[in-house]
Parts: sequence; C-alpha cells; structure tokens
Amino acid sequence: MTLLGEFELIARYFTQPVRRAALGVGDDCALLTVAPGMSLAVSSDMLVEGRHFVSTVAPERLGHKALAVNLSDLAACGARPLAFSLSLALPAADEAFLAPFARGLLALAERHECELVGGDTTRGPLTISITAFGEIATGAALLRSGARVGDDLYVSGTLGDARLALEVLRGTIAVSGEAFARIRRAMEEPTPRVALGRALVGIASSAIDVSDGLAGDLGHVLRRSGVGAAVEVDALPRSADLAAQDQALQRECLLAGGDDYELIFTAAADRRDAVVGAARTAATPVTRIGRVEAGGTLRFVDAAGREVIGPATSFDHFLTASPAPKP
Ligand code: ADP
Ligand code: MG
Repeated sequence: MTLLGEFELIARYFTQPVRRAALGVGDDCALLTVAPGMSLAVSSDMLVEGRHFVSTVAPERLGHKALAVNLSDLAACGARPLAFSLSLALPAADEAFLAPFARGLLALAERHECELVGGDTTRGPLTISITAFGEIATGAALLRSGARVGDDLYVSGTLGDARLALEVLRGTIAVSGEAFARIRRAMEEPTPRVALGRALVGIASSAIDVSDGLAGDLGHVLRRSGVGAAVEVDALPRSADLAAQDQALQRECLLAGGDDYELIFTAAADRRDAVVGAARTAATPVTRIGRVEAGGTLRFVDAAGREVIGPATSFDHFLTASPAPKP
C-alpha cells in the first residue's frame, strides 16, 4: 500500500480543471455563478461504511454510488447538475482504494457534466459526504408538496432489486450467479434519473426519489401535499429477477425496499401524453402505478381496486420493518 499526504492525495485524485464553475479546488472556497432567473438546488448525502454500504463493495462502484445518490436528489427536483463537493474521511491514504474510487466518481460526474469543485479530507472511519449543486429556473423545481387529488401516479424504471440483492447478501434467499450480478449492480451502481427529472419540469406536479422504499417516500409526498393515494401493487414495475421470487418477498422489496433511486412523481390526468413524451426524451421507462386521492392514506389495491394490504397498519409495518441501509 502506497501512502500519500493529504495535499498530494487531493492533487492526484480530486483536482479537476473546471469548465463551468468560476473557481474549483485549491482555494478557500469554490465559486459558482448562477444565471439570472435560475436558482441553485443544493443537496447533501453521506455514506458511512457498515451503515450504507458493505466493506466488500468495489471502490469504483462506491465512487459512482456516492455521487449517484446526490444526483438522484437533484433529479427529483428537476435540476440540472452543475458541481459537487466531496468530504472524505479515510482510514488511510490507500491508492488501491483511491484510484478506482475516484475513477467511478469522476466517470459519473463527467457523464452529467457535474464538476468536483472542492471538499475536505481527513483521517477517520470511511465516510463519504457529497454536496451537489444544480440549477433550476426559479419557481420551477419539482416539490414534494405539489400532488393534487385526481393526479396520476408514476414511477421510473423498476423497484426492488437493490433490496433483493441485500437479502442475498444477508443469506435469507439464494439466486443464480448471473441474477446476483444483475441485482447487485442495481444496489451498487444505481442510475440517477437526471434526464427524466429535467424533462418532467412543467409537467409533473410533484416528485421524490426512492431512497427509503416506495411506501415511505410516497408517504412523504402525500403528507406534504395533504392527499392520499391508491397504488396498484400488481402494476409496480419489477425485474424478471424479482418477479421470480415469491409474492410476499416481491411486495416487501417493491414497497419497502429502498436504495432504488427511481423517481416517483405525479401529474394531472390530462398530461399523460406529456409524461410519455418526457419519458421518451429521457429514454427512461415510466409506469403509471396509481392515483392521488382525497384523505391522508396510502392504499395498496389490485387491478379491480380492492385493497390487498390493509392501509395504516401495513404502512407502519413497512416503515418499521425496512432494515435496508440507505443514504
Ligand atoms: P481549508 O483548510 O481551507 O479547508 P483544505 O486544506 O481542507 O482547505 O483543502 C484544500 C483545497 O482542496 C480546498 O480547495 C478544498 O476545497 C480542496 N479539497 C479538500 N479535500 C477535497 C476532496 N476530497 N475533494 C475535492 N477537493 C478537496
Ligand atoms: Mg479543509
């Protein structure tokens, strides 16, 4: 293991020439300029070893995920990523960790033209804290509070694979090697739905990203909007790997899984064509999964509208029985 000093480490792995920021790494502050009429969207997420990720995760994937969870928050607001800062606690300046970590992190950053502009580095138990900055037209951000009675409810991608992978790691179920590779990737290398979030600005009435599971995160939207919702459980999009599991586990992963980093959003029923257009623009699959209702409850129903899981109790059950580590 090669040991590096703090400043050498920053210079070698985390100093990038900036193109959009006015000033990047190397001074006391970075400087970002926001165009007139635009607001800065700011979000932080911290990943702690043992709590949010297992020590066996490949460092390259960890770098990817640390930024992905932050970009997912920007996506949920409809913001365009601009820049991020990186605060790292490292047990040692180990290049065998730092080189692939920086590679995974900066590859995702490059894909979204999101520049690393600063941070902090210290010795300590492995902890990665990122603050991401994005821009959004003032007043246009997608918020949790905008869902209205009668709106359609949608989700991007599929739900539940990250939780399924966690169950395999815990040893509660077994799947084939190929299936594990696929679902493990969903857990370790989530795709932030940045293009979809941006395409939904002006179309969606509310949005949130799924980090703690559909039931819990949709619950935040319903509370903030003062509404309820009916979710058609059989309509929830899932991978073939999850669909191969028994129904109880499928529901647990779909409703309470967490770590999905898909977007849940609402849109007025007369905006269906616009939602389909946004999904196409973003090349991201989107599924209509239910409807916003009056009242404060989240109901889970079948295609005929019959409740398949009791509302309040199961909702609490999902909240409390969700042991998946998440940022
Ligand atoms: P200060 O003492 O002013 O906080 P530091 O010595 O901590 O500055 O950091 C020096 C420069 O390196 C600063 O510009 C800081 O933003 C940047 N920096 C420190 N750690 C990181 C990191 N992990 N990633 C990116 N930039 C970093
Ligand atoms: Mg510092």
